[in-house]
Amino acid sequence: MYIDTHCHLNLPEFNTDVVSVIGNAKKTGVKRIIIPGVNLYFSQKAIDIALTQPQSLFASIGYHPYEANKSPDTHDLELLLKKYQGTKFTPRSLSVARSEVGTIIAIGECGLDYHKFKSEKADGKKDQQKHLFEDQLLLAIKYGLPAIIHCRDAFEDLFSVLDALPKMPLGVIHCFSGGLQDMRMATERNLYFGVDGNITYTKHIQSILPSMRLDTLLLETDAPYLTPEPHRGERNEPKYIPLIAKTISSLIHEPESMIENQTTLNAKKLFHINT
Ligand SMILES: [Zn+2]
Ligand SMILES: [Zn+2]
Repeated sequence: MYIDTHCHLNLPEFNTDVVSVIGNAKKTGVKRIIIPGVNLYFSQKAIDIALTQPQSLFASIGYHPYEANKSPDTHDLELLLKKYQGTKFTPRSLSVARSEVGTIIAIGECGLDYHKFKSEKADGKKDQQKHLFEDQLLLAIKYGLPAIIHCRDAFEDLFSVLDALPKMPLGVIHCFSGGLQDMRMATERNLYFGVDGNITYTKHIQSILPSMRLDTLLLETDAPYLTPEPHRGERNEPKYIPLIAKTISSLIHEPESMIENQTTLNAKKLFHINT
């Protein structure tokens, strides 16, 4: 069994056929899917979709860094947690809550994205993103949930935000795009790494992957984006997760079944999925 740990089934690209997309994923062995939010509306939609198949689908709630200039309120995420996780879900009572409900299994995707800030003076915008990210990490720590972290061209600030927290949160850097040093720093902080379909064609990630520890890797499609070879140009779907495992297998010379088992184990451990 595979787990797609990052799949935007809540986006409009899947509005008309989400049920068959999930069915087709299951046929290729992708039996659990985590649906991340990018703002309040899509977090709610992630929950609504997850609740249709609570044994197979899970929601993560959060604000993408692109939302930072739209006055997002992290308190709204806490209200969702309180509404959907049941009365037993309170700070530091997670062992009780998780076995009972657990539709919302993470906070995110949250993080920093400086990709568009290269040429302009954007310190104010960066500060907005840092504050929003920090608020969500504090929420993750408060409720003992892992964070799904989006980080693009911002690794230095990522680690300074993380290191200033009262406690290191659990989490994954989804669609990891950093360098060797970033990978080592994240590994020291016990973070996981999401590997996506771009591993099938991006030389940079292919070159870093053999240095990564297999017990830190998670598989994710980031569908509808980042479609792997040989389907580039089409909409991405969770059914393509095995293509990512296949590429990892050829890069590190380990059997595909080993990649499948280990990444599923990693995802179950990080997100406390027990179904
Ligand atoms: Zn992302
Ligand atoms: Zn995403």
